[in-house]
Amino acid sequence: MRYLSTRDRSLRYTAAEAIKQGLSRDGGLFLPEEFPSIEPEQLKAMETMSYQQRAVEVMRLFLEDYSEEELQAFAEAAYGSDKYDDPAVAPVHTLDAATHCLELWHGPTSAFKDMALQMLPHLLSASLKKTGEEKTACILVATSGDTGKAALEGFKDVDQTKIIVFYPKDGVSEIQKLQMVTQEGKNVNVCSVLGNFDDAQTGVKRIFSNEDIRATLNGRGYFLSSANSINWGRVLPQIVYYVSVYCDLARDGKLKAGEALNICVPTGNFGNILSAYYAKCMGVPVGRLICASNKNDVLTEFLRTGVYDRNRHFYTTMSPSMDILISSNLERLLYALSDGNDAEVCSYMEQLNTVGRYQVSDSIFSRVRELFWAGSCGEEETLATIYRYYEDPDKRYLIDPHTAVAANVLEQYRAETGDNAPAVFASTASPYKFCNHVLRAIGAPYQGSGMELIARLQEITGVQAPWRLAKLGEKGIRFTGSTEKQDMEMVVLNLLK
Ligand SMILES: *Cc1c(COP(=O)(O)O)cnc(C)c1O
Repeated sequence: MRYLSTRDRSLRYTAAEAIKQGLSRDGGLFLPEEFPSIEPEQLKAMETMSYQQRAVEVMRLFLEDYSEEELQAFAEAAYGSDKYDDPAVAPVHTLDAATHCLELWHGPTSAFKDMALQMLPHLLSASLKKTGEEKTACILVATSGDTGKAALEGFKDVDQTKIIVFYPKDGVSEIQKLQMVTQEGKNVNVCSVLGNFDDAQTGVKRIFSNEDIRATLNGRGYFLSSANSINWGRVLPQIVYYVSVYCDLARDGKLKAGEALNICVPTGNFGNILSAYYAKCMGVPVGRLICASNKNDVLTEFLRTGVYDRNRHFYTTMSPSMDILISSNLERLLYALSDGNDAEVCSYMEQLNTVGRYQVSDSIFSRVRELFWAGSCGEEETLATIYRYYEDPDKRYLIDPHTAVAANVLEQYRAETGDNAPAVFASTASPYKFCNHVLRAIGAPYQGSGMELIARLQEITGVQAPWRLAKLGEKGIRFTGSTEKQDMEMVVLNLLK
């Protein structure tokens, strides 16, 4: 199977090349030329498999240049019990006969980014060998929180890679900062930037486009690479858990044979919900795809009107991983719904770049309406939803603000459409990653240090904190470096000697 670009369908790359390059040279995103299908018998057979086996079954359909043994080894390493605190890896929590929650945060950093970032480094490292690349890949990341730590954990001690993470000094939570500066591993580095997230991201982009730095690093045996969510190696591992949740629910008799499952996803960059769409394309009986936004509702508006308009106010919310104006992975959906019309995709992306707005064709929009439903959930409703899920004696379920947005939008969907078919909503972070908001929502005091808040939430609710977060205070601090935003180039050059 070959890979092409959303902006040039005549390209033909192997999976290894697509994963190594990350982004196509024409600015487009890589996609397999066709989506393999999973037959009902195959899906049935997967019901008795472990998550790791299911990952191999799904990923091998897309990665013909990787052997089954390789994929098996990667799945064991990525989703083993030393990494995931639940043997199911992505367990399902059932709330009532038709409502389920897919917990995607049992990995090492307690956020759903682990599901992909535990796998991507193995795929990348293998793709370097397959393409005869002898240089070391240096992953540069600017993070507003979750991605940096998940990338550090994923790339830690992976062959032929190094990783440098820049975070804004005052732009991440205390827990997120502690998670990063205590990071273990021989090939990792973390540095704070005196500025905000935009400054850190601008600095990283500047380094990527600096030909002198690239040439210097090349001479030293390095090339720069990125781990952001547009890499196909991040989208693919996410398809697995949507196949997996269907298998679990069918196996446990919570879905009848072939019965459709609605899926609701708290969405930012559109990577997670896109993976659910791909699972549907492959033949998993998925009903409606429900896209949940917070107060930053650019996607809700797009899916309801066909107009994408980034010219709007940017809100900082309590679900920061969904605070976004440009949703990069949407480009892959536009490619699919235009039946692979690369010129049309180019034109939308060009308009987004120049005027910040585009309107899709009637034919794309009518397909969007068939497949998706969208809603947004404000800050007060987010708090109220956390409270209700926790206090309701039939639920007693503690969720984080991102998950609460999805839970709330699923309720909106059911109330507006009357469609009460079985549904699952994705839980993308442990409530312990956002203790202050969760404590506030359940009416408890929410001032204090990060470690105090973890202890308090555990004491009040009796819900066990992920052990890595609970023990964070005992870990030694390894990285205290900090830089002015204009000196990030120097940091990189000094670290890659
Ligand atoms: C990244 C993230 C999201 C958004 O996922 P996308 O794939 O970007 O849509 C939602 N919740 C959490 C906790 C995240 O870290």
